[in-house]
Amino acid sequence: MKFGGSSISNGEKIKNVSNIIKKYYENGKNEVVVVVSAFSGVTDSLISVAKDLSNDFFDETGIKNNISYKKEKIEDFIQKTRKIHISAIKDAIFDEDIQKSVIDKEEDILRELKNVLLGISYIGELTLRSLDYIMSFGERMSAPIVSASLRSLGINSMSYTGGEVGLITNDKFGDAKPLSSSYKLIRSNVETFLKEGVIVITGFIAKNKKGIITTLGRDGSDYTASIIGAAIDSDEIWIFTDVDGIMTADPDLIPDAQTIPLLSYLEAMELSYFGSSVIHPRTLEPAMNKNICVRIKNTFNPFKPGTAIVKEYEKSDKIVKAISCIKDVALVSVIGTGMIGMPGVAAKVFSALAKKDINVIMISQGSSEANISFVIKENHVEEAYNCLKEEFKDNLIKDIEYKRDVGIIAVVGAGMIGTPGVAAKVFSALAKKDINVIMISQGSSEANISFVIKENHVYDGVRALHKEFKLEIAEKTDFTS
Ligand code: ASP
Ligand code: MG
Repeated sequence: MKFGGSSISNGEKIKNVSNIIKKYYENGKNEVVVVVSAFSGVTDSLISVAKDLSNDFFDETGIKNNISYKKEKIEDFIQKTRKIHISAIKDAIFDEDIQKSVIDKEEDILRELKNVLLGISYIGELTLRSLDYIMSFGERMSAPIVSASLRSLGINSMSYTGGEVGLITNDKFGDAKPLSSSYKLIRSNVETFLKEGVIVITGFIAKNKKGIITTLGRDGSDYTASIIGAAIDSDEIWIFTDVDGIMTADPDLIPDAQTIPLLSYLEAMELSYFGSSVIHPRTLEPAMNKNICVRIKNTFNPFKPGTAIVKEYEKSDKIVKAISCIKDVALVSVIGTGMIGMPGVAAKVFSALAKKDINVIMISQGSSEANISFVIKENHVEEAYNCLKEEFKDNLIKDIEYKRDVGIIAVVGAGMIGTPGVAAKVFSALAKKDINVIMISQGSSEANISFVIKENHVYDGVRALHKEFKLEIAEKTDFTS
């Protein structure tokens, strides 16, 4: 079970989480491994204070690098951080001995944090490696609190860092990937630790072969949960969040959107590429390799089944499962008859973009070859335009154009695979609403039809399609657990 920051960031919430764990632990009938994130906002605040302290400060007279000013900042920050964690402890844990031992542990961690921040202040630089070390404090502070709160309910529990359970990564600080040898190591450690009771593991953080702390990338705790679940062949991996599961559409746009009871890995990935932020594709990968169900559940509504993500399921009554959308994108077209029959133009376009770290969301080339269009985040559009102008200044192409006010709608569902007529239904529903389609793409998985329309049509488009495929009617399923 993985609990994110918004599920644990105060004493009340921690009590709620401990009770959920207790219920499913059933006095030892089930084995439970818990993964937690930092309290919400803590990782962000660690990053921002570290960045601040690594900069030079100037006082009013222009004197540089005022260390006493930095020390004050550190003191403020440590006070604030202490307050958040200690008050959560006091609200969640009433047993005096347990309370005292976890407060002592937190004070040790805070002292270490203070020293690290002081180091950054003197050195005046912040490497990715140091930043990982600093970010690790968020989870290192939260995990012992959740574990102590379980102990106060009479459940044996210990907390461990990702590195301590054997999550060993490469050296890519800030975005590290687990080594394949981790899986075996985690399995044997976790099996041992589980004999002691429920174990609580820090999400997001790991270590490299030399024992130096690394992190798995922002929001990486879900990924930790999936890696650990896969390593120990868990029955299921539960990601607790603050919604009932993955929805048929954004409920802010579509009030009668429904929770989807069952999705395939493929569908969940298509959805996460196209705007649904509930689960990151990398999270699914370890679970997929072991064919383990990933379940999205609501911490504040924990006994609902949520959304189960599995390898395959019997054909459901829904061909289309969800409509998702992305706004704030731009459509760029590279145009010119000079490209026809010229190998390497596409390669040039996309490697120029890759060099600038510009992610391409959707691509289309007409069979006339006179036009390559693609969609990127709107805030990258100037940069993309300039770098392509530069790349093609020898005049191979006629023009580069871009449109800013566009959005993407993606229609997702594995039932579309091999079902004729879905595209026809999609586009006639749009035509009925007078919505013009600018560009279309269907992935070869056939589980996703996506298209670009004007941004101010996105809402109407999502609504029309949600209705067309009757997604407001909850899916019938006898799949319960
Ligand atoms: N605490 C980390 C972050 O904020 C990891 C996580 O929340 O999953 O990015
Ligand atoms: Mg998070």
